This record gives sequence, structure tokens and C-alpha cells, in this order.
Amino acid sequence: MQKFDVIIAGGGLAGLSTAAHLVEIKKDIRVLVYDANQIGEGASGVPGGMVNPITGQKATLAWRAETSMQMLEKRIQNISSYSGLKLSYENGVIRPAIDEKLGKNFRSAIKKSRWPKHWIDWLSPDDLARRIPGLKDNSGGLFIRKGKVIQTPEYLKAYAAFLTDRNVTFKFGGPYNLFQNTDWVLESGSETFTAPVAVVTSGHKTRENKYWTELPMKSVKGQLAVYECDEKVDTLPAVSAYGYIAPVDTHKLVVGSTYEHHFHDENPDDQGAALLDQKLAELLPDLYTKCRYLHSWSGIRATTPDRLPLVGKHPEFNGLFTFSGLGSKGLLYSEYIGKLFAEHLISHTDLPNEISLYRLSKYRDLRKLAKEKQDQKAK
Ligand SMILES: Cc1cc2nc3c(=O)[nH]c(=O)nc-3n(C[C@H](O)[C@H](O)[C@H](O)COP(=O)(O)OP(=O)(O)OC[C@H]3O[C@@H](n4cnc5c(N)ncnc54)[C@H](O)[C@@H]3O)c2cc1C
Repeated sequence: MQKFDVIIAGGGLAGLSTAAHLVEIKKDIRVLVYDANQIGEGASGVPGGMVNPITGQKATLAWRAETSMQMLEKRIQNISSYSGLKLSYENGVIRPAIDEKLGKNFRSAIKKSRWPKHWIDWLSPDDLARRIPGLKDNSGGLFIRKGKVIQTPEYLKAYAAFLTDRNVTFKFGGPYNLFQNTDWVLESGSETFTAPVAVVTSGHKTRENKYWTELPMKSVKGQLAVYECDEKVDTLPAVSAYGYIAPVDTHKLVVGSTYEHHFHDENPDDQGAALLDQKLAELLPDLYTKCRYLHSWSGIRATTPDRLPLVGKHPEFNGLFTFSGLGSKGLLYSEYIGKLFAEHLISHTDLPNEISLYRLSKYRDLRKLAKEKQDQKAK
């Protein structure tokens, strides 16, 4: 039996950032990251993820975007020496104004949201054409300077190496049994791990954990297609227009993504690839003729009703926590929320209501019920 202080079940962005902040706050803490598969096999393995601090049609600034961005940038810096490759493309993100209404929304968004200095500009059609030559139906658009594209598979590899260097233990091993026996016990094959604290960060699979079946998350499948191009694409900004097109290498770009609320199969399919091909052909017709389809990728996002993650302690079981539901903003949020969560685990600081499980009446009710049961038992 191997003893730890914290067991984290899931080695995606949520699990790795939680582990990192735990060891950064408390150097000698013993952390196990247990993944049923491999690092990057969940949604976090997306081959080129965009960091876009804008949300919705009205282009409002995302929740605590400035701090989230600062923390992500710091993390990119301190893990980059663990990779020989480029971890991010810092060319900004463009949101083209596809129609008159969007253009109006975007222009007023610059004034309405409290944007940090130099984060956002309105581009005239000429300015936009200089940044992305050949963009179809160019009516101008927003340029989010701070936006970037992360090489997520490489980022996760570097992150895991950085954590291994800080004594975080990684184990991989298929399905497991998690139960409470004073401490939490995770049994996998012939191995047993225990810790007073267990955290489930298994992305959309968190709901398959018997303690977390009530989480209000939906699984939304997304497919991406990777293309190789004759010309260099690594200086292009990412384009965010009902999905995105983004550079992932000197001559490679990724086109995403589908949003499939009903699906039978988690794998990429021909229909998804055809849709994405059409997207590239329609948005950047000239570039499209110089690019060849290489392969597709698919993953499942865990989305919540208000598009913010679900973080906190189980209403009934002591020492059991989750950090799930990062939706489409895992890259922007995981670092900052990982830090808030690690502080909550170690120092019992409150979590902001916007991300706490207990912003949901269902969880407040479950907590109340558990407390009543406990009080009755104590009598
Ligand atoms: C097509 C697509 C495009 C996306 N694009 C972007 C983007 O541009 N920008 C952005 O910020 N985000 C994007 N996302 C979302 C982003 O990938 C997620 O928000 C983020 O990866 C979620 O991280 P996670 O750690 O919560 O979950 P995951 O990455 O899913 O990690 C969960 C981990 O848990 C493991 N696991 C599963 N079951 C168990 C179990 N029973 N026990 C232990 N481990 C288990 C899995 O193997 C996996 O490693 C995209 C997602 C998809 C699908």
C-alpha cells in the first residue's frame, strides 16, 4: 500500500494544474496523479487549443480573464525548458465580423467590457486583410492581441516532466475502485494507494465516478482536422468564427471544431472531416488550395449550464473533491482555478461562488440533507 497526501484521478489540464499548485504551496506534500489512460488522452489532448479570453456573440471578457491569462503565461514560461518544441503561438486571435449585427456587437464590446490595456482592437477590412490575407467576406473584426494557441499535447508532456521533477508520482492503469476507509483508497489491479484527500478530475468521465453522478455536466463531442500547407502558416493569428483555424506548426494548421450534443461514437468520422474541410474552404479559400488534409482528432468536452467549471468538496463525503466542467476554456482557466483549488485544499480558503459546486441549488440541498443526517446520527 502506498501512502499519499492527495490522490488526483485524472491527468488532464485540471489534474496537472491542481498537482502543480499543491507542490508549489507545500513543497513536501505527497501527490499521486492517477490516470485511467495516459496523459493527454482526454479532451486536453486537443492538437492545438486556442486561448481566447472572449465569450459569446456579444464578445464579453471571460470571467477573471486577466489573472487567468497571467497565470497561464507564467506556467508556459516555467515548463518550456522541459520541451524542445514551441509550446505556444502568440500571434493573437481574430474574430471576423461575419455579418452587420456581429460587427455592431463587437464594436460596442470594446467599449463595454473592461478590457485590460492593449488586449483588443477593432480591425478595418484592410487591417484584417493584412493580418489574414484571403479571408472571405471580410467586413473587419476584432483582434485579441493576448489570444494564443497552445500545442496542448506537447504542453502536457512538458507539464508532466516538470511535475515529476517536483516529486509528483504518476500512475496509469485502467479502471480502479475508489472507496473510503478512514482515508480514501484507490485500488487498481494489484496496487493500492491511500490518501486523506481524493480529487476527481476525470473530465467528462467524472460523472461516471459513483460519487459524482449528480454533476450537471453535458458531454459535447468535438472533432478537429489537421492540415499541412505549402506555405508557412506559423505567423498567422488564429481565426475564431463558429469554430477556429489555428497554426500548430510551421506548415501545419488545425481546423475545428464540431459541437456534437448527440453522438454514439467518440472517434472522429468522415462526416466531421467533411464539415471541417468545408469550413476551411469557405473561410480561407486561397490557403485551402495549398493545404492537404492529414488526420482528424476527437475529444469530449464537459460543459456546464453557465459555462464555468464545478469545483469543491463532496456534500456528503469528507476529503472527496472534484474539479471538472472546464468546457471550451480549459486552457484559459485551468491554471488559475488550479491555484484557487489547491489553496482551498491546503488552507481551506473559500472558492469564488462563480466556480463553486454550491452555486447550484441542487448541491446546496444535498449538503443540507447530509448535514441533517449527520446531526441526527450524532443525537
Ligand atoms: C474538439 C475540442 C476542442 C477544444 N478546443 C479548446 C480550445 O481551443 N481551447 C481551450 O481552452 N479548450 C479547448 N477544449 C476544451 C479543453 O480541452 C478542456 O476544457 C480541457 O481539456 C478539460 O480538461 P480536464 O482535465 O478537465 O479533462 P480531460 O482533459 O478530459 O482529462 C481527464 C483525464 O482523466 C482521465 N480519466 C478518465 N476517466 C478516468 C478515471 N475513471 N480515472 C482516472 N482518470 C480518468 C482521462 O484519461 C484524462 O486524461 C477543446 C475540447 C475539444 C474536445
